[in-house]
Amino acid sequence: MWYFTPYIFLPLAAVLLASGAMRLAWPYRQLSVVKVFLGMMFSIIWWSLWHALELSNASIAGKVLLSNIQYMSVVSVPLLWLLFALFYTDRAHLLPRSVVYSLILLQSGFLIGAWTNGWHWLMWPTVELTYTAGGLWVLTGPNGPLWYASVLSAYAMVFAGTVLMINQAIRSQSFYRSQVISLVVGALLPWAASILFVTGLSPIPFVDLTPVAFALSGLAFTVAIQRYRAFDLLPAAREMIVDQMPDAIIVLDMHDRIIDLNPAAQAILSVTIDVLGQPLTHGAPRWLIEQVRDRYEGQFEVQHTGETGATTYDLRCTTLRNRDGRPMGRIFVLRDITLFKQAAQALQEAKEAAEAASQAKSAFLSTMSHELRTPLTAILGYSEFLREDLSNRGLHTQTSDLDRIITAGRHLLTLISDILDYARLEANAVTIHPEPVHMSTLIHEVVMTLQGLAKQGQNTITVTIEPDLPPVVADPVRLRQVLLNLVGNACKFTEQGEIRVHCYRSTIDEIQIDVSDTGIGIAADQLQHLFKPFVQVDSGPTRRYGGTGLGLAISQRLCQVMKGAISATSEPDRGSTFRVRLPITSVPPAPREVSQEEC
Ligand code: ADP
Repeated sequence: MWYFTPYIFLPLAAVLLASGAMRLAWPYRQLSVVKVFLGMMFSIIWWSLWHALELSNASIAGKVLLSNIQYMSVVSVPLLWLLFALFYTDRAHLLPRSVVYSLILLQSGFLIGAWTNGWHWLMWPTVELTYTAGGLWVLTGPNGPLWYASVLSAYAMVFAGTVLMINQAIRSQSFYRSQVISLVVGALLPWAASILFVTGLSPIPFVDLTPVAFALSGLAFTVAIQRYRAFDLLPAAREMIVDQMPDAIIVLDMHDRIIDLNPAAQAILSVTIDVLGQPLTHGAPRWLIEQVRDRYEGQFEVQHTGETGATTYDLRCTTLRNRDGRPMGRIFVLRDITLFKQAAQALQEAKEAAEAASQAKSAFLSTMSHELRTPLTAILGYSEFLREDLSNRGLHTQTSDLDRIITAGRHLLTLISDILDYARLEANAVTIHPEPVHMSTLIHEVVMTLQGLAKQGQNTITVTIEPDLPPVVADPVRLRQVLLNLVGNACKFTEQGEIRVHCYRSTIDEIQIDVSDTGIGIAADQLQHLFKPFVQVDSGPTRRYGGTGLGLAISQRLCQVMKGAISATSEPDRGSTFRVRLPITSVPPAPREVSQEEC
């Protein structure tokens, strides 16, 4: 026998609320805590649906059957609530599996007790159908001992869960307190509803508001949890991270009272947790009080010399604000960076030592080159004079030895000049005189100079220059030196091939000069070292042509000081391309003095 009563809207509202809570928690279902939560909400939905049906039924048999079905949730919700609280507070290990199984058995016992009440009447000794003033058919009658045991067990479990949550609220000193408080308030709601129902003090005495209250608190949990993202990282887990952090964390309230500090901070301050609530001036050493006194925001380096020696800290200060932006206190994070500072200092010293050594080397090379060049120039001068004298006198047979001296001397002079050049470039002692340079003229000059060398290797040189090129900004003497080196190398390392010089505008403000050849090429592993000083690819042709291995290193340095760049691509036995990039500027800048010394 069925009838309509508006009271069914209450349990149906609980169904809606619990479904909403489930929907919100669903994305986090992988987490154990959320699994339990979803189970709890499902149980509440089950409870509420059958309760709504029970309210709409007016037969004693139907009502007993429907309330027996609800009893499945009556016994499971308290247990699920306890499990949820255990997982949420990271205390799941406190309840061994055997205890959980025992609790399940106990609750199942109560369920069976309810289902078999007709045989033993221990749950409800008499059951009657009463029509109440509100137009509601309800089951009435006294409660039996089994019912009291069942209610006691349910309350014990809900109570244990609530204690865990309150404990968590107390331990969450600062950040998560409001979240846990809302959870505790949520947890107390079903208590209130259940006590009102059991004692008969409820404003709607015959409608069990417990599932509605549980659903409401479930929604409160989800909203609180979503807001603070606690399912991502539960407060207990956060607490563990903060506790195990090597950095010291100190939280002060607006009156500079210590309201939280982790073990690392306790060690630095040489205090125990008892210092909580005390003013910073009582709990912290003087040096720290001075460092944090007027600091509200920012990062600072703090030195402290104690008994164990000097320590450097990185101090970060942040003002804690509430939702309205009002300052609530300050948080300080102290990180010991002594080792890092020492390493940085050692690194700086090593760098300075290396720079000093490099300067000394450059100075030595420069002096030595200078000292060697003077006597060598004299040797070459006198050898050439002697050779001319001998050939004037017709003594041609005796000039061959002198030729050898002159060739070796010239090679030595080139070597010394290159070393001197490189040493000066290294020491930034080269003065560059930038001016507008027309590439066409310069390239033709270079090619003319090297025609002889090209012919020796039976090579042809082809020059392609884009018409109407603007001038580049460069030192013409130094740029000539670079191009002589590149085209010279191309001639040296190519036989019966072709050397191409291609000059064009690559971008709006840059001109590129490609010097390519069809010569021996360079292996990929050698290519990357090519611009380092004294690097020569160790193969027959290189040795045959001699050289110092300094030309490309000097060229690279020169391009750099002229605000340009040089690069190379090559393939063994196919040839190489060296590319020089130089800036175009309409207004030539003034000469840049790098040093007083003239190169
Ligand atoms: P070097 O005075 O020895 O020519 P460089 O610095 O100008 O000194 O060149 C270094 C080395 O790079 C050369 O010895 C040679 O092995 C290689 N190299 C330079 N240009 C070419 C090229 N066009 N083809 C092949 N190898 C080259």
